[in-house]
Amino acid sequence: LPRSTADHVGLADAVTAHTYAPLPVVVAEAEGAWVTDVEGRRYLDCLAGYSALNFGHRHPTLLAAAREQLARVTLTSRAFGNDRLGPFCRDLAALAGMDAVVPMNTGAEAVETAIKVARRWGYRVRGVPDGRARIVVAEGNFHGRTTTIVGFSTDPVARDGFGPFTPGFDVVPFGDAAALRAALTPDTVAVLIEPVQGEAGVVVPPPGYLAAVREACTAAGVLLVADEIQSGLGRTGTTFACELEGVVPDVYVLGKALGGGILPVSAVVARADVLDVLTPGSHGSTFGGNPLGAAVGHAVVRLLETGEYQARARRLGERLAARLQPLVGRGLRAVRTRGLWAGVDLDPALMSGRAACERLAARGVLTKETHGATLRLAPPLVIEDDDLDWAVDQLAAVLAGA
Ligand code: PLP
Repeated sequence: LPRSTADHVGLADAVTAHTYAPLPVVVAEAEGAWVTDVEGRRYLDCLAGYSALNFGHRHPTLLAAAREQLARVTLTSRAFGNDRLGPFCRDLAALAGMDAVVPMNTGAEAVETAIKVARRWGYRVRGVPDGRARIVVAEGNFHGRTTTIVGFSTDPVARDGFGPFTPGFDVVPFGDAAALRAALTPDTVAVLIEPVQGEAGVVVPPPGYLAAVREACTAAGVLLVADEIQSGLGRTGTTFACELEGVVPDVYVLGKALGGGILPVSAVVARADVLDVLTPGSHGSTFGGNPLGAAVGHAVVRLLETGEYQARARRLGERLAARLQPLVGRGLRAVRTRGLWAGVDLDPALMSGRAACERLAARGVLTKETHGATLRLAPPLVIEDDDLDWAVDQLAAVLAGA
């Protein structure tokens, strides 16, 4: 095995497709909010696997659930039942205030599942003429990397060279309820939206926007599909970001933290009258609902049922916001926070997002830029107060050119 960071970076660069431009940090071990690289350097993880590690690295309860299940059965396929699937889906649906679940693996798969559900619901329940269903999405969206999903992305880098794309999507500006209302046609079956746009840089819509979207969907008789893959499961200080606006969607799309940072677990969670349009053979996944994923997902649901992590995200989020705000005008142009989740816009004259991340890594703080000059701070919800303060101190030092 290679030993040094340079050797590992070189090897991975030679034998993997260049779909990422990672920082030159090669992680070998992790616990809680901290990771250790191959050379023994420690870093505070302030990205947390894009919020897949909300509960931190190797949370003892989640590891125990995985270990216990490893000793029993890990995969059955859905050709047969398994004794983990029902209890997991029952409790996940209850956590979301819904009836039922389509268990999948990755986020993009769950989004694709929601699109299929919405279209079939549109044809069979709403009576939209076959082949005409339209779905409204927002500018700046990020819902994954499949060909259908990148087809309605507004990021040229995500789309370039991957067409032809799936038709049937209408893009409206994010945060503009009037524009969204105007885009609803008799053929519209759903609005698919991130309540807070994570990948776009933790973009928070104006107050009242989500409630207005909910109202518009109800009035038009279309489904509100909330992609809470990144915003959900505790990150914003509530179980779902929609709760912050008192909004209940028709469909939740969940992923990332649902797998506890251990394995990919995603889900579409909705009312029975919506999910009932799926029939045997119409949808599926070899790994979706596997007993190992279900056992870990169930343990995640149990952690969230305590409310402890949501409360922690709220409290630490206030602390983070209070410490970041004074940096506006001192190297930062703007700070947006929701719970323990911040998008900070650097003054581009000062340095690029990439340069800031490299300097932060040199000081022992890991995060990653998004769209040039924006950094996302999304540490595990288990981070200690002092560590969070220390991370912001490192950011302040980088901005001050120290
Ligand atoms: N939807 C949202 C809101 C996301 O943030 C992401 C991933 O960043 C996805 C979907 C795609 O998830 P995955 O990478 O697991 O396919």
